[in-house]
Amino acid sequence: MTKSGEAHGVKEKVMDQKAQKEKVEYVEGLDLDAMPPGHAARFMVELVQDPLGRALRVPVMVLKGKKSGPVVGIVGALHGNELNGIRVIHQLFARTDVSKLRGTLVAINVANVPGYLMHQREFMEGTDLNHIMPGKEGGNEAQVYAYRLFHRIVKQFDYLLDLHTASFGRINSLYIRADMTHPITARMAYLQRPQIILHNPPNDQTLRGSAMEQEIPAITIEIGNPHLFQANFIQRSLIGIRATLSELGMLPKKGKLVAGPEPIICRKSQWLYTTTGGILEVFPGVVEMVEEGQLVAQVRNIFGDIVEEYHAPFAGIVIGKSTDPAAQTGARILHLGQLAQPDEMAQFYRRELNSMLS
Ligand SMILES: [Zn+2]
Repeated sequence: MTKSGEAHGVKEKVMDQKAQKEKVEYVEGLDLDAMPPGHAARFMVELVQDPLGRALRVPVMVLKGKKSGPVVGIVGALHGNELNGIRVIHQLFARTDVSKLRGTLVAINVANVPGYLMHQREFMEGTDLNHIMPGKEGGNEAQVYAYRLFHRIVKQFDYLLDLHTASFGRINSLYIRADMTHPITARMAYLQRPQIILHNPPNDQTLRGSAMEQEIPAITIEIGNPHLFQANFIQRSLIGIRATLSELGMLPKKGKLVAGPEPIICRKSQWLYTTTGGILEVFPGVVEMVEEGQLVAQVRNIFGDIVEEYHAPFAGIVIGKSTDPAAQTGARILHLGQLAQPDEMAQFYRRELNSMLS
């Protein structure tokens, strides 16, 4: 087990408050061009003001290499309770030597600051920031926050990796949402070496979709479960991101960066929902294969009688599932992925056939 002050095998010192403060710059926007090459910086970027007139700031880390190259942006906690990505960002920055970096690495450690403070997925008043991107200038609280997050920071990225997890009451595999018909995002997805890749054309108004509209190739990395740190998934995500940076020529190439079995590719997916309320039990585990018609869940009434059963509508793999027994009518049961067929696989760009640099 890792002790405080000692992470990933490297002895780290406990930093005193004065030294911590001296390292952070308070700014109203992020100007990457103004940063000197070969420089590491920590920012608190002001986006909006709260009712006391205090600045609401997002934490941003930047490593600007000595040589010019692409800007890769990594976004953590756009949903405020999805925290595995924060640790991925920490470890990525701790391990990346700015003197050997080509291009610029930017991380928004926590994109949804109010949600993070309130231990919740949404921004204020239940708004999901990942449904209103790229926000609206002069819009309501959430819209203007999203607009400034996107325009002050995200728009400067050449590539985007958006780090998420499941929501409360659910668990996820380590999976990628990416447009597998797009050569660059398909390559990014493969380099990540997740358990599952879900072909998912970017939806309007997600961060990924808004970035893709700006021609910023973007993938979503779903890193397991909400509100905790899962060391294994954090490690795998880190290896995948470093593989992408290596592929882009930003890190010195170091042998084989990508390990692990081939990911399962899904052509589409479907959430199953309960049609009645009660006590929900979901049987298959995450990453388990199910057959068409297989019993996947039961709902019991509060007295213990089975009142409904649910069967898989098609054969597939469990991408994520509910772990919350208290189910209202319409509660999520499981997220079932349908495997891509060989002819579809041929249409998706295979990593062996494609390179992000070509
Ligand atoms: Zn999320």
